[in-house]
Amino acid sequence: MQLIRAFSIFLLLGQFAAATRPDELIEITQVNPRIRIDVRYATADNFVGKPVYPSAKCFLRREVAERLSKVQVELETLGLGLKVWDGYRPLSVQKEFWKLVPDERYVASPVKGSRHNRGAAVDLTLVDREGKELEMPTKYDDFTEEAGAYAPCSERALENRKVLQRVMTANGFEIFPTEWWHFDAKGWEKYEILDLSFDQLSRPASLPAEVAELLAKVKPAASYAVADHLNPAFIQGDYDGDGKLDAGVLVKQKTTGAIGIAVVFPGMRRVVVLGGGSEFGNGGKDFAWMDEWRTVPRAENGSRPRKGDAIHVGKSESANALIYWDGKAFRWEQQGD
Ligand SMILES: [Zn+2]
Repeated sequence: MQLIRAFSIFLLLGQFAAATRPDELIEITQVNPRIRIDVRYATADNFVGKPVYPSAKCFLRREVAERLSKVQVELETLGLGLKVWDGYRPLSVQKEFWKLVPDERYVASPVKGSRHNRGAAVDLTLVDREGKELEMPTKYDDFTEEAGAYAPCSERALENRKVLQRVMTANGFEIFPTEWWHFDAKGWEKYEILDLSFDQLSRPASLPAEVAELLAKVKPAASYAVADHLNPAFIQGDYDGDGKLDAGVLVKQKTTGAIGIAVVFPGMRRVVVLGGGSEFGNGGKDFAWMDEWRTVPRAENGSRPRKGDAIHVGKSESANALIYWDGKAFRWEQQGD
């Protein structure tokens, strides 16, 4: 019953948190869908020359996104709007950027971290009602002196840059001297540096109703509690291939602290705990070593005899494994050491 209670608390917290936490990372378009986004780092049209984000999404801390929404509302009274190029950036991407441009005027050192890594900085420009970009001193990610927030430029670009700076600073953002397009949210230092992937951030904030219902009814092992080892704390997929959505939740064995995965099958109406104190494949009985887990869609499973989606568990690319249902039991398939 302990597990049920723990899950219930987890669900309540999850829903409550989604509604109220000012520091949660949220897509800008969920706060104000009229803000245009053009995520260059999800395309090859950026200084790296290839996509570095898996999807064209722009996340910010909720409180920062709300400030940006006020900027948009104010700009609309002038017949203008925002186009955002970048917001939250995972620290691992920052490390890639630093290898290419080790110059702190344009790219923050990953040792200190960028304010983008805190979800508290934004790269953007002004657009007109039709979404056409206004003239600005330079293009985005122009790593020259001309990109400076006070650098000389044409009269029209100067006027546009001034409008952008005035409205942004009036709504709680700070000008960045070497890049006209970059603004930091005041109070950025209170948000920690993060390395959550876009995939992790895109997971829904609460478990599907069917899964939650099952957790409340089925009798799971009383010795497990939900683990906060990796967050967000659950993944979803159709792991047994029955066409119904299942969920994987990280759990901790109460007496040993060993981490495991509880897979919840609404279709089979049962919960299976992998690891977490019970021996399982080469992964042993404790998954505390892993620093990444995700669902691998069945379409990527190749010719192996898998019935549904697989669960991938990994340790910084040095060790990883696929866990999949073969119709009778879960199988462990090691890749690398
Ligand atoms: Zn920036």
